[in-house]
Amino acid sequence: MVLSYYTGMKKLSHLLVSLLVMQFLTAQHTGIFLKGRTAGPLPFLEYGLGEDRLGGAKMTFLDTNIFVKVNDSINNKYKIELSKNHFAFLPKENFRADSSLQLYPYYLTSNWKIYGDEKYDYVTIALTEKLPYRSIQEINPSRIVVDIFGATSNSNWIIQLSTAKEVKNTWYEQIEDDVFRVFIELNHPQHWGYSIYYENNKLVIRVKQQPEDLSLSKLKIAVDAGHGGDNTGESGHNSGIEEKNYTLKIAKELQQALIAERANVFMTREKDTTLSMVERITMLREEAPDFLVSIHLNSSDIEADKGASTYYRYIGFRPLSQFILKRLEELKLEEYGNVGGFNFGLSGPTDYPNCLVEVAFLSNKSDERKILDPGFRKVVAVKIVAGIKDWLQSLK
Ligand SMILES: [Zn+2]
Repeated sequence: MVLSYYTGMKKLSHLLVSLLVMQFLTAQHTGIFLKGRTAGPLPFLEYGLGEDRLGGAKMTFLDTNIFVKVNDSINNKYKIELSKNHFAFLPKENFRADSSLQLYPYYLTSNWKIYGDEKYDYVTIALTEKLPYRSIQEINPSRIVVDIFGATSNSNWIIQLSTAKEVKNTWYEQIEDDVFRVFIELNHPQHWGYSIYYENNKLVIRVKQQPEDLSLSKLKIAVDAGHGGDNTGESGHNSGIEEKNYTLKIAKELQQALIAERANVFMTREKDTTLSMVERITMLREEAPDFLVSIHLNSSDIEADKGASTYYRYIGFRPLSQFILKRLEELKLEEYGNVGGFNFGLSGPTDYPNCLVEVAFLSNKSDERKILDPGFRKVVAVKIVAGIKDWLQSLK
């Protein structure tokens, strides 16, 4: 069929328009103006630029030296292109530019190996570059799901050794052309945590096995007294007491109560020490506790807000916080609630189960009176230990 001049021109202009659109889309897509790697202590990605007191919701902590492509710059954050359809924000201080880095159209995954030692199982995946990732915890069945951005599968076998004790099954799915999803099914309903890092270009997901002996005397428990030093926290609305001093008093009661159970206790601070969130997390990573309990005191602009609350970030860590809250309610403390998805620094690490306890409100008269009572603080510690024991019992 011969096209008329008009139809021909129309086709041509359509073609031009679509070429322009394509060019625009490509320009947008390859709008990378900086290439580099993650740097500094504890780099992390955020979903967005949230501005409440807890900041943007955290997507993940990242290892250092991970290849990132910067797509935009907004205040103190870089917008990172994770894949064609996924973006995140990285603090500028966690970025080191490297213009010599080559951009490739795709990066391949290679072979996997799964094995275990005394304490951990390892899922290792060879890659052609240190690519960014994120992870989520799932329950019923308990699984760890890891997305590797920019990766395309060339994984043609997965070696699984019987030394792995916690990892039941592993598989993958190429969920988008440049997003490679790793599934790790666990043997126990309880998540005991995992760390993700690189060894050269091999991604390692180190999964903590459920301890064989769940007696308190066989476990290492980290206790964190919130705030400290320059960071005073909230203050008692009537008494003017500082949160940092009372979190420490309660943390020390908890330390004593745990030692009485012959547990191995690690305290992030035992004095009025100033500790940044990065220092606390780094310290805790080195200590590798079986789980963490962090002590805080709540405060609100609403005088009527009162009672106990416990917090977690990841669903797999929730049960510990539920058992502790249930026991605290025996102290005639109102239930302020069990709070999930909590975007707080110490709730962010995936390495070990953790629970933040906001014992009661400094801004409520009757709660404040309780906090001032040494007998109350002692019994709070006893109830937290009872909650921990209930939780451990439920896992046997
Ligand atoms: Zn606090």
